[in-house]
Amino acid sequence: MISCKEAAELTSRRLDEPLSFQNRMALRFHVLMCSLCRTFAKQLAMIRHLSQVAGDFGPNSVIAAGSGMQKTLPPATKARLKGAISGKDWTL
Ligand SMILES: [Zn+2]
Repeated sequence: MISCKEAAELTSRRLDEPLSFQNRMALRFHVLMCSLCRTFAKQLAMIRHLSQVAGDFGPNSVIAAGSGMQKTLPPATKARLKGAISGKDWTL
């Protein structure tokens, strides 16, 4: 079985590129057996998804605000994030 460190690397890499069959199977098996990596994978997928939902990069976005970062998100962004969290299955 691959280590948790290797599983974390594969979990992150698979968001950017397809994994080989061998790596996919190794990751699936590890995540099946390891609740910590299962939680990490779900959280990473959620962060990735929410950053895509919120990431309009407009002048009022959190990212574009830079050092003058807003203390709260605009209401429209909050509504999009709430909808994205509640309507998605985060299992692998
Ligand atoms: Zn693990």
